[in-house]
Amino acid sequence: MRIMQVAAEATPYVKVGGLADVAGALAGDLAALGCEVELVLPRYRCVGALGLDLSAAEDVAFPLAGRAAAAGVARLVRADGVTVTLVDAPWAFDRDGVYDVPETGEGHPDNPERFACFARAVAGLIARDPPDVVHVHDCHAALVPGLLRLVVPPARPVKTVLTIHNLAYQMLSPPRVLFDVGFPRDWFRPLSPLEFHGGSNFLKVGIHFADLLTTVSTRYAEEIQTPAHGCGLDGLLRERRALLHGVLNGIDTAVWDPATDPLLPARYSAADPSGKWKCRRELLRRARLPQGARAPLVGMVGRLAEQKGLDIFAAAAPALARLDLRFAILGVGQEKYHRMLRELASAHPERFAVFLGFDDELAHWIEAGSDFFLMPSRYEPCGLNQMYSMRYGSIPIVHRVGGLAETVTDYDESADDATGFAFAAPRAELLVAKARSALALYREDGKRLAVMRRGMARDFSARRTAERYLDLYTRMMVP
Ligand code: ADP
Repeated sequence: MRIMQVAAEATPYVKVGGLADVAGALAGDLAALGCEVELVLPRYRCVGALGLDLSAAEDVAFPLAGRAAAAGVARLVRADGVTVTLVDAPWAFDRDGVYDVPETGEGHPDNPERFACFARAVAGLIARDPPDVVHVHDCHAALVPGLLRLVVPPARPVKTVLTIHNLAYQMLSPPRVLFDVGFPRDWFRPLSPLEFHGGSNFLKVGIHFADLLTTVSTRYAEEIQTPAHGCGLDGLLRERRALLHGVLNGIDTAVWDPATDPLLPARYSAADPSGKWKCRRELLRRARLPQGARAPLVGMVGRLAEQKGLDIFAAAAPALARLDLRFAILGVGQEKYHRMLRELASAHPERFAVFLGFDDELAHWIEAGSDFFLMPSRYEPCGLNQMYSMRYGSIPIVHRVGGLAETVTDYDESADDATGFAFAAPRAELLVAKARSALALYREDGKRLAVMRRGMARDFSARRTAERYLDLYTRMMVP
């Protein structure tokens, strides 16, 4: 089966968040399952800087805003069989910041034009040589299924899958952006697929035109059909619910494995966790926190955005500072959260260590060196960090929502099969209560080790996720 994956980010080329891990691992795992896989990404400046051994660029031409335009296309065939295709439009991608202006953390104002051009170029590539299935990820690639209706001959329809990794990011735009890449003006009518509150919405277009919809946990698939989590698209998602599947994301167990992880100060396993204590010591040193086993270390890694519940954490911080806990926090994002975290670290330097930036190695250190891992997300489609943390023996403390609810079993409710702590509502006092429970568990070595080992034994491998997708593709191909 020939499968094209289209995403705005994928490891190991460009990563902003979990989408990159998932898209990167899925391509490799589908290839290992016997598929012929092409992974298509924009050629950002940071990708150009990787010095990849690319084929000579060819052009894909298309009309853009009534004029002839083109994008460069360069390829790389990897040892695992995956073809990586980079789409280059320098005006769109040769700049700093994948989605956001680095100085402000705000989105590039021309993101709709940039990703509409990307989608149009990809549609042009598909029209030349259609694969069996085109699987697009999130709003950045969501115009592709609609564009294929326009550019692929009806006799050779291509099956399309849209995965929603995060419904909150929809790419709102003026309708002009859609007309510029070829959507007919008379498709734009009130309540039509191209219309959203007087403007346009890439994700809505994708949800309408894709043959199959998936999202990244079963629980989130249900949540997004409700007004509370539907971000204005719950009505359309309810209409299309028969096509909507929850497929839990997995983790790349080759990259995220404490037994082999080359980024760590020491390696360890559930059978012999002694290396974890070395990782902990080294992390405390790097974070300039007091050494010692008495106070557990709580890790946090993530985008500093509304979604991640940093306001809940901020409200809980005064009470957390009074508990015998320490925190190692890594993140980058909105300036107001940078400020909040900086203030916290300077008020309680012996409790909170804060690293503002993107640092893959440090993310691995925190997963490995922490005793607990905190994710107070307001919503979480799937979440990868709680799965990494379980695999690394750091017991997750999460808000029970979306993929966090699906992957973490709460200790207070079900001690015998618990893998962590989950609080039921996004409220600071509930977070603090779970932190107290975690502290109590920490004091009982045997019980703590049992919870930790159970988490380490859970199978969250991305291979399983790839098998689920392959099954969905296969079923789509049956006429
Ligand atoms: P999201 O996709 O919403 O950002 P996930 O938990 O699904 O959240 O995935 C986040 C991924 O990005 C994880 O691999 C995490 O380790 C990584 N990550 C997030 N922020 C940083 C950072 N500041 N430095 C290094 N890695 C980060």
